Amino acid sequence: MSSTLRDEILELIWALREKNVNSIEDIVKGIGDSDTSDEIRKMEKAGCLLIRNHDVELTEKGETRARDLTRRHRLAERLFHDVLDVSMKESEETACEIEHFLSPSVTDSVCSFLGHPPTCPHGKPIPRGVCCSKYKSGFRPLVVQLKDFEVGSRGRIVFIRPSDSTRLERLSSMGIIAGSIIKLKQKRPSFVLEIDETTLAVDSMIAEEIYVKEHQ
Ligand SMILES: [Zn+2]
Ligand SMILES: [Zn+2]
Repeated sequence: MSSTLRDEILELIWALREKNVNSIEDIVKGIGDSDTSDEIRKMEKAGCLLIRNHDVELTEKGETRARDLTRRHRLAERLFHDVLDVSMKESEETACEIEHFLSPSVTDSVCSFLGHPPTCPHGKPIPRGVCCSKYKSGFRPLVVQLKDFEVGSRGRIVFIRPSDSTRLERLSSMGIIAGSIIKLKQKRPSFVLEIDETTLAVDSMIAEEIYVKEHQ
C-alpha cells in the first residue's frame, strides 16, 4: 500500500467534489495510476470512504485527512508563489511534496504568516484552520510592510524585498536586516525608525520593501 497514492486520491476526491464530481471513473482518470481502483477499495475497508454504485463519498476520517492535505497543499502554494516568488508550476510541485509532512502547528503558523488567505494562487478555496477563526476580527496578517506598521510599535524585521538589488547592501550597512528589532517613530514626512538606539530615516518606497512582525 502506498500512503502517498492514498493521499493523492483523497486530495483529488476533495478537489473533484468542489466541481460536484465524485465518480470512481473520474478519480482513476485524474490519478493516472493503475493501482488506483484497488487502492480505492482498500480505502473503503480502511474506513476512509464509502463506495456507492460508481461514486465515492468520504467518511469523517477521509474527510478530515483530505481537508488537512488540501489545506497544507494550498497554503504551501501561497507561500512559495507569493512570498518566495517561485513559479506557479514549481510552487505546485513543491506543495505536493510538503503537504505530506507539514505538522498542524507549522501549517497554522504558515497560515497566520500569510494572513489566513482564503484561496490558493489558482483561486481554489483553502480549508480554514483553527488559527483562522481565532483571528476572524480583521484578518490582520502577522507580517506587514513597514508602511502599514503602527507608529510607536516595536517590530522584528522578517524579510526585505528590495526592488533594486544594490539597496540591500546599503540597508544592511544601516542595520536594516532580517532579525533586527525596530521601533517605528513616525511615518511623515519620512519613515523614522530606531534600531539599537540609532535613529534612521528611510523613504516610503523602502518602507514598502521592509516586512515586519510585531515584537513585544
Ligand atoms: Zn492551487
Ligand atoms: Zn489561518
